[in-house]
Amino acid sequence: MRIVVCRQCEQNFETEAPRVHFCSLECRFWSGVQKRGEDECWPWLLSRPKGTYGQLSQYDASTRKRFNEKSHRVCYRLKVGPLQQSDHVLHRCDNPPCCNPRHLFIGEHAANMDDKAQKLRAGKKIDAETARSIKNAEGSSRTIAAAFDVSPSLVKQIRAGTVWRYA
Ligand SMILES: [Zn+2]
Ligand SMILES: [Zn+2]
Repeated sequence: MRIVVCRQCEQNFETEAPRVHFCSLECRFWSGVQKRGEDECWPWLLSRPKGTYGQLSQYDASTRKRFNEKSHRVCYRLKVGPLQQSDHVLHRCDNPPCCNPRHLFIGEHAANMDDKAQKLRAGKKIDAETARSIKNAEGSSRTIAAAFDVSPSLVKQIRAGTVWRYA
């Protein structure tokens, strides 16, 4: 056993593991967050592998494996309440690296919401000019759909000439 001073809360703690600098997951987590005003976003300062969500690697003693967890999910678990694997933790502020617990909520109907957005896009009216641009665009239907904010199926239909044939 050795005595270590936690880099976050500055309390002494005992550990057998090497390279341990924090007394708890909570301290490790908060060391990566820039806390700001109550209603402001609290950005994650450490690893953001895809440039969007923050990530915290952890060790699961029961499986003896390391795993990664998104930082806003860690935040929710620590400050708001328990999480199921299937829960979608969403940001009220639409700021993926934000770890202000007040900005987080579980989207119970996330699947439905996606579905709704999909339908909205599918029913979206486009004009002839947009149809022409889509027809001339290069890339996969999915990429083009994202670029023009329309559904991939509309892109396919335009390319196949089933709609906007004379645009
Ligand atoms: Zn600590
Ligand atoms: Zn926020």
